[in-house]
Amino acid sequence: RRILLCVGIVDELPDLPGYRQLWGRSLYQCPYCHGWELRDRAWGYLANDVACLEWSLLLRAWTPDLVVFTSGRFAVRGEDRELLERCRIRLDERPVVGFRAEGESLAAVQLAGGAEVRREVMFVRPPQRQTGLVMGLVASFGLKLATPDRVHVDNHQTSVRGIYAAGDLASSAHGALIAAGSGNAAAHALGEDLTRELLLEGML
Ligand SMILES: Cc1cc2nc3c(=O)[nH]c(=O)nc-3n(C[C@H](O)[C@H](O)[C@H](O)COP(=O)(O)OP(=O)(O)OC[C@H]3O[C@@H](n4cnc5c(N)ncnc54)[C@H](O)[C@@H]3O)c2cc1C
Repeated sequence: RRILLCVGIVDELPDLPGYRQLWGRSLYQCPYCHGWELRDRAWGYLANDVACLEWSLLLRAWTPDLVVFTSGRFAVRGEDRELLERCRIRLDERPVVGFRAEGESLAAVQLAGGAEVRREVMFVRPPQRQTGLVMGLVASFGLKLATPDRVHVDNHQTSVRGIYAAGDLASSAHGALIAAGSGNAAAHALGEDLTRELLLEGML
């Protein structure tokens, strides 16, 4: 009678050498999750676009040794260059071609032409998408998405009556406690709705 969707989302890891191997070991997406344990180490940040540059200022809170890699994906404006310089953040615009590991840890960022920049930690923002299960519901039941990576919910219920959603797939903020909290709240909403229905049908 009721379904609670909580299948998470999919991180689409790029096909760069070392990326998958180091994901979750030296390559992370959230400094609040991993920053404290890795503070003051040699950090890098692979920025996807010009809007992402602002985020490098946040990363500086955990380490004085930060290099932002643009991989030549976008042109850096003079004002951004100046801002990074004032915040003592180094900028490297050469194409990133891979991540070299030593054991299970990052040793260096590999650049086109064979150069390397020694780094111990990288922050990256891989694209995220809904799982095949959710996309199947979008296609077959018209389940509504609020954004391409977020299922629309109203009081934890999706646009399809009886289907609830919780966790990363229904939130723009991703985190274990946020996901657990929303799972709890969704279960409450689902339970109340189901109990009411069963009572009115004389089944309780
Ligand atoms: C590398 C990394 C590190 C992170 N570190 C932290 C951290 O330190 N602290 C923090 O708060 N958050 C962290 N996060 C974020 C956190 O993991 C997520 O926000 C949280 O796990 C989301 O919970 P969820 O239940 O929505 O989804 P998930 O934890 O992704 O769980 C969904 C589950 O559903 C399963 N599933 C998928 N499809 C199906 C299907 N069709 N049928 C059955 N099962 C299915 C999946 O296999 C998975 O087990 C990290 C994320 C990543 C990627």
